[in-house]
Amino acid sequence: MTRVYGEPMPICTGVCSSCGFCYRICPGSDVPLLELEKHFFGENRKFTLADLGFYLESYVGYAGDEVIRKKGASGGVVTALLVHALEKGIIDCAIVAGFNKEKPWLTEAKLVKSKKEIIDAAQSKYAVVPVNMLFREAVKRGCQRLGLVGLPCHIHAVRKMQYYDVPRDISGKIKLTIGLFCASQFYFEGTRHILVEWCGIKDLEVIASLEYRGGEWPGHFMVKRHDGETITIDRHRYVYHMLMPNYKRDRCEMCIDWSSELADIAVGDYWASPTIGDNFSGTSALLVRSLAGEELIKSAVEEKVLYLEGLEPERLCSSIGFEMKKHGAAFRLVQRQQFGWPTPNYHMKVDYTPFFRDLHLAPEKK
Ligand SMILES: Cc1cc2nc3c(=O)[nH]c(=O)nc-3n(C[C@H](O)[C@H](O)[C@H](O)COP(=O)(O)OP(=O)(O)OC[C@H]3O[C@@H](n4cnc5c(N)ncnc54)[C@H](O)[C@@H]3O)c2cc1C
Ligand code: SF4
Ligand code: SF4
Repeated sequence: MTRVYGEPMPICTGVCSSCGFCYRICPGSDVPLLELEKHFFGENRKFTLADLGFYLESYVGYAGDEVIRKKGASGGVVTALLVHALEKGIIDCAIVAGFNKEKPWLTEAKLVKSKKEIIDAAQSKYAVVPVNMLFREAVKRGCQRLGLVGLPCHIHAVRKMQYYDVPRDISGKIKLTIGLFCASQFYFEGTRHILVEWCGIKDLEVIASLEYRGGEWPGHFMVKRHDGETITIDRHRYVYHMLMPNYKRDRCEMCIDWSSELADIAVGDYWASPTIGDNFSGTSALLVRSLAGEELIKSAVEEKVLYLEGLEPERLCSSIGFEMKKHGAAFRLVQRQQFGWPTPNYHMKVDYTPFFRDLHLAPEKK
């Protein structure tokens, strides 16, 4: 892998035999969403306006371990589940998103095998992390039961690998997929502009660490410099006044999967008023889609790894992410198709019909 304009770019390191595997499993242009859904979950979603894909259960909750909850982007649920799956032997490694050691302003996929490494990789990264590139490395290092956390499009690729059974030495070893909800991913250029224009950092080498959801929930853009100074930019300000309007990736504008519709377990932020716990801090929303996911959740709750409460799934449709993907992106997809512009093919009719609901927003720091 190399980087062009700060973006990860795959390079062919061997001799290409034109087998076509990479094109076949790439989620960029072709995602037979309903076919994959039926294959992996046994049935299709109920086609309602509040479309969150197929799911067995929906919850809101947080990690039982207070350190993990605080370290997580929302309730630390993903981190807690990965640690639990590792300790139970369901997986023997996890592929997660971290930062480059030498250049800590750049995100990087990490293959991890310990609780500490999983916790270190908590929190959302708002720049591309090509997590799927580490499957080959995991198998080379002898891992037999692979776990992956990724965005909906990462999970699309994983499901295509499993469905088409390519590459065969990897596909059968993927045992757990935890998907994040995703309104959009952003070009690294957006991060660079925040650093230069808002943090006054011209030379990125002065950066000792960067976090997109650092500090108190809901977490802010936090840069630590080698000279000890910490600069914090409020989450609302940098997401809604810099990344979202200016640096959304093109492909994301036409992506219709918000809630990781093909993951075993999908996890997102929960912005509505609390229905659980003693305070309004760090809470995740969960959609459990597969039987494997259901089993993992059951054991995590029994062992107090997670505290969960049932959630009316329709409440999730009140977030901006739902509107952005299931309505905005879906409408854009249809518009582009009408004019014959290139679009991904999800092999399904999209429905962006508006329907009334309350809007849930993240708390803002003024
Ligand atoms: C680009 C992006 C957009 C998102 N959009 C929404 C949204 O619209 N609505 C919503 O409700 N939630 C969204 N989320 C999810 C949300 O920010 C939290 O990640 C989620 O609630 C899980 O929180 P947690 O505390 O349970 O997970 P944590 O315990 O913090 O664990 C998060 C896990 O995700 C991995 N991870 C982080 N970033 C990436 C990445 N870029 N690629 C692959 N893996 C990653 C980490 O390595 C870690 O293992 C988004 C996340 C990202 C990265
Ligand atoms: S997966 Fe096949 S087609 Fe793609 S680069 Fe490798 S050898 Fe070539
Ligand atoms: S919006 Fe869609 S294509 Fe873009 S990063 Fe999220 S899941 Fe991937």
